[in-house]
Amino acid sequence: MTSTAPLLLRLQEAETSAGRAAGYCWLAHPDGGRFCSLPPGHDGDHVDVFRGRASPTAATGTRWREDVRR
Ligand SMILES: [Zn+2]
Repeated sequence: MTSTAPLLLRLQEAETSAGRAAGYCWLAHPDGGRFCSLPPGHDGDHVDVFRGRASPTAATGTRWREDVRR
């Protein structure tokens, strides 16, 4: 098993995740360990606002771009 799941698999996992049930996009970061915490169906980059912040006061954390338009 690789550490990076294909985008389609990560999308399927997001749709059935607890994070999605809580109201987040929840797409997993390609490198794992981060989950998009924007609303489902948002525009633009995916952002994990809780993890990967440069400092405790930074507004957002890890940001990445993947096309998930359907
Ligand atoms: Zn997202």
